[in-house]
Amino acid sequence: MQEKLSEIQNQAKDDLANADSPEEVEKIKTRYLGRKGGVINEIIKVIPGLPPEQRSSTGKSANILKNEIGKWIEEKKEGFNTSSEGSVTLPSPGVKSTGGVFDVSLPGEHKPYGRKHPLTQTIDEIKEIFRKLCFDIEYGPEVEHEYYNFDALNIPADHPSREDFDTFYLGNKRLLRSQTSTVQIRVMEKKKPPIRMIAPGKVFRPDTVDARHASMFHQIEGLMVDEGVSFSDLKYVLTLFAQSYFGQDIKMRFRPSFFPFTEPSAEIDISCSICNGKGCSVCSQSGWVEVLGAGMVDPNVFETVGYDPEKYTGFAFGMGVERLTMLKYGIDNIRLFFENDLRFLSQF
Ligand SMILES: [Zn+2]
Repeated sequence: MQEKLSEIQNQAKDDLANADSPEEVEKIKTRYLGRKGGVINEIIKVIPGLPPEQRSSTGKSANILKNEIGKWIEEKKEGFNTSSEGSVTLPSPGVKSTGGVFDVSLPGEHKPYGRKHPLTQTIDEIKEIFRKLCFDIEYGPEVEHEYYNFDALNIPADHPSREDFDTFYLGNKRLLRSQTSTVQIRVMEKKKPPIRMIAPGKVFRPDTVDARHASMFHQIEGLMVDEGVSFSDLKYVLTLFAQSYFGQDIKMRFRPSFFPFTEPSAEIDISCSICNGKGCSVCSQSGWVEVLGAGMVDPNVFETVGYDPEKYTGFAFGMGVERLTMLKYGIDNIRLFFENDLRFLSQF
């Protein structure tokens, strides 16, 4: 009788393994566990006719087998439930389960690839160029204290850039930063030289919006401080940058200028990439366009952050991301960057 039971056990196992639908599992359940004519019940029925010493052990074994088969059937059923739910929800979390089976051979729904905004592409490209020169990338807050935006940068209290019409004041000596130079001060307060860093980010000025001006735009500010840094290092780094960004054929011009936080200061032009220096409306017929402001860090700035100006020298530079992007791609209106018109953005 025990042999017969293990035969039934193997057969039930095989039958369930081969069942490929919930209906079939139901049939197997009736076949083995049915009250009338079920295989297990037929065994139990004949137990009273067995020799007395076999009755109890056969009864026990039959009951164990009955429970075992019952358990297998439930597991098999659950297997069908989870596999059908899983296949419906897997392809897209937003699609509600319909209870049906997901057809993996159906063609998918086409979702166009996104891409980076042209300004983000420019920032990434510039970051990559300076990363190769071992410059760190630093960030600072957009809501700044007056101290970081002006005082620490050697900008006197009566400087025109501090006027209400040139800066967004928030009250309580707070403002929306009008330049990313603020990050230089924050970094120098925390670190000792040598310093090589660039700081990309948004800046804010209450300019009237036109083809060349916006009240929010992006700057990348750079700083290098160490012993023995000279103006020729500044020239070398910025020439390398301009050639990497605009191409090897670009010509550069350094013009003397003035900024409160650098001495001496220079404005840097490149040969107009639109007309190749012949003269056009972008370069106001001059053949040159201004791309950068730079200079040697003023000793007063070093004193403010606690660096010894007798020991350390350094240079700083700043550039407008919108301007660099416009020059590279021949874009004539800054507003195009912020209108979010996909016909424009998808060209980059
Ligand atoms: Zn030109």
